[in-house]
Amino acid sequence: MALQTVAARIRGFICLNAHPGGCARNIQTQVDVARAYAAGVPGAGLGHALVVGASTGYGLSSLATTVFGYGARAVGVCLERPPHGDRTASAGWYNLAALGRLARDTGHDVAFVNGDAYTDAIKAQTIELLKKRGAKLDSVVYSLASPKRTDPKTGVTHASVLKPIGAPFVSKSISLGNDEVQTVEIAPATDADIEETRKVMGGEDWALWMNALAEADLLAKGCRTVAYSYIGPELTYPIYRSGTIGKAKEHLEQTARALTVDLARTGGAAYVSVNKALVTQASSAIPVVPLYISLLYKIMKAEGTHEGTAEQIGRLFRDHLAPGRTPTLDAGGRIRVDDLEMRPEVQRRIVELWDQVTTENLFELTDYAGFKQEFRSLFGFEIPGIDYSVPLEVAIPLE
Ligand code: NAD
Repeated sequence: MALQTVAARIRGFICLNAHPGGCARNIQTQVDVARAYAAGVPGAGLGHALVVGASTGYGLSSLATTVFGYGARAVGVCLERPPHGDRTASAGWYNLAALGRLARDTGHDVAFVNGDAYTDAIKAQTIELLKKRGAKLDSVVYSLASPKRTDPKTGVTHASVLKPIGAPFVSKSISLGNDEVQTVEIAPATDADIEETRKVMGGEDWALWMNALAEADLLAKGCRTVAYSYIGPELTYPIYRSGTIGKAKEHLEQTARALTVDLARTGGAAYVSVNKALVTQASSAIPVVPLYISLLYKIMKAEGTHEGTAEQIGRLFRDHLAPGRTPTLDAGGRIRVDDLEMRPEVQRRIVELWDQVTTENLFELTDYAGFKQEFRSLFGFEIPGIDYSVPLEVAIPLE
């Protein structure tokens, strides 16, 4: 037991440590939002839920929503770094530790598996745990975001890349290291890059999870599973929707259709939900996207339509996936909660401002300050009401 003060250690789009008190405060906010969105939704609660990628971003909000909004008994799978000596744990570790404490204090039931979700071993460990808990899953959320994946069949490790396809992409982008607006040129992907990215961020592992759960007879009648995607505006098409990651997301959509064929036999279905662009550990690493998000936040906050992951997932379950709800789908068969982001007025304003942004007016024309603040808050820093000069325990178990 060693108390210590924790100050943020940030390098570009990476934060090397996390503040357990700030992370716990974030969890309380997430839980409040989850409860508010679920309040008054008619029908029974969820029985059992599994969230793969449950410790940060959209997966964390999915865990908070299913457990605290709809009373699910849930298991969350993540890959997080425990505390070690005087090194803090990763933010996701503290998030789930706080969520677990809050669940115990309020009579909810949640358990965690920390390890590489792409491996057969972690799937088997999760299945054992679900069996012990007597779970038949009503809801499976698949929310992994990772730069690499080792295929359990071949042992080959694949690395995803964020590249355009066909031609180089030249665009404005913020250099997160020095807050400068720069022009970046990103070389086009090779065929091998496209395939590597599909192997990591496509639907292959989602299907492996669903097949393993079905074989273990862990899916309840009517089980619904969802994975998350992004489409975004034409401005970011070259690096996102028409790029390597977009190809992987197309594969995710094909996987949803294939999984639905099996799940439909017992009244279930697989969905892809297209969510809003938000600051998460994964999205901060995509070139060009931090500038787009900074403009998007400026406009959506000004018009009062800004949402975080908690509100997005609160809306996803309230309007589409809560028990008894029938999801509304677009022409491509996807759920859309990116509707407010994609409104023509919002996108028109972004295009106008995009051309005007320079290093000098970055903080004035965009909400880059909000982007930075939100990035730090992902790790428990710059949270209002937290006194960062007070030493605190960092050796917190995940239970
Ligand atoms: P994130 O980085 O915040 O979360 C990733 C989660 O995956 C974490 O819980 C992490 O522990 C877990 N994880 C990563 N590798 C793992 C592994 N090998 N084993 C077990 N767990 C592992 O990411 P996010 O932005 O919330 O992204 C989640 C999904 O949402 C992705 O499919 C992403 O494309 C999609 N999405 C994101 C945005 C956005 O703007 N952030 C928008 C729309 C859709």
